[in-house]
Amino acid sequence: MAIHYVCRHCGTAVGSLKQPVVSSRQLGIHALTEDERIEMVQYDSEGNVTIKTICEDCEESLQRNPDFHEYDYFIH
Ligand SMILES: [Zn+2]
Repeated sequence: MAIHYVCRHCGTAVGSLKQPVVSSRQLGIHALTEDERIEMVQYDSEGNVTIKTICEDCEESLQRNPDFHEYDYFIH
């Protein structure tokens, strides 16, 4: 299976991994609630996983604009 990390804000592909078996702990999603997991982690029919994360550019702009981060969080 392949794991693709995509920025949830701008859609940029942040990176991808190819591993035969990956635990949710390795993905960093073990701490998420069930709702967050459903929203952030998507499986396609071939067993590949897309995880919504945040790219460096967006992280930087969100750090400069914490209000925007709050807004974005709540509209999701
Ligand atoms: Zn981004």
